[in-house]
Amino acid sequence: MPLPNHCSAKVYGRECEIPPSYVLSVKSQEAEYMFAVVCDEHKSKIKKLLIAMQQNGNLPPGAIRFQPISGVATDCVIGFESNPT
Ligand SMILES: [Zn+2]
Repeated sequence: MPLPNHCSAKVYGRECEIPPSYVLSVKSQEAEYMFAVVCDEHKSKIKKLLIAMQQNGNLPPGAIRFQPISGVATDCVIGFESNPT
């Protein structure tokens, strides 16, 4: 899945132009929902917003996870290499 090339936060109605550093997901008992990317600067702001959305029922309950984007890419490479012929 291709990632957006900028942060998902909106600042005063305009989208943040900073390249994202983290993938944001909510991990519930059944599944993990990945729904946004965020830059370092907006990480704590987005987290507060998500907690408020969970309290309003606009988001599935579960643990909010921030995964560094470089870490995601590394996992992917290891996955492809661990398949000996
Ligand atoms: Zn941002």
